[in-house]
Amino acid sequence: MDAVLDRVEIDPELKVTPDTVLENVSAQTNKRPSRAEAEAAVRTLIQWAGDDPTREGLLETPKRVVKAYEEFFEGYNKDPQEILSKTFSEVAGYDDMVVMRGITVESHCEHHMVPVQGTAHVAYMPNGRVVGISKLARIVEAYARRLQTQETMTAEIADAIEKYLKPKGVAVVVDATHQCMTCRGVKHQGVYTLTRQFRGCFKEVDQERRFWDLIRG
Ligand SMILES: [Zn+2]
Repeated sequence: MDAVLDRVEIDPELKVTPDTVLENVSAQTNKRPSRAEAEAAVRTLIQWAGDDPTREGLLETPKRVVKAYEEFFEGYNKDPQEILSKTFSEVAGYDDMVVMRGITVESHCEHHMVPVQGTAHVAYMPNGRVVGISKLARIVEAYARRLQTQETMTAEIADAIEKYLKPKGVAVVVDATHQCMTCRGVKHQGVYTLTRQFRGCFKEVDQERRFWDLIRG
């Protein structure tokens, strides 16, 4: 905030006072726009792309885009603590890692807002309690369906499992392709980005090796 105000004071071209900057910043960060405002923003982007938002084929597009955004970004409404709240201790002495591999990742890069698609492999070493297997996929979804960087998403998934499940260790690997790399700028096709977070016992070389062996099948 201070940096914003400093810039206002030293730039005589900006015809705003520090007060209006403060108002705008808080308006942008606190208030969720209405559906009508979101649809109007899509019409602006259509015009920016060079097309006419009033032509027949595009008339319903803002409505569809806003609806699609609700699905793309539904992760903001998910509570990781709630997802991992139900655990079970009745596991007949099971004491090895639980691995879920090949979880679909559908995210959007926070720099260009274009799709990031790939897979996640998640493992944890139970500390007496396990969680329903589908919950691991739901944790991945809760963080993927936001504006993300792959690095942040990978760390957030590991953090949530570590914090709410309290296992002996967590391993998260995300393998994804970024459309901002394949469709714009340098246009590198077939490039996959691999990010990984190993926590607790997965920092031990043996456990890490067992994890890689298991996810490679
Ligand atoms: Zn990007």
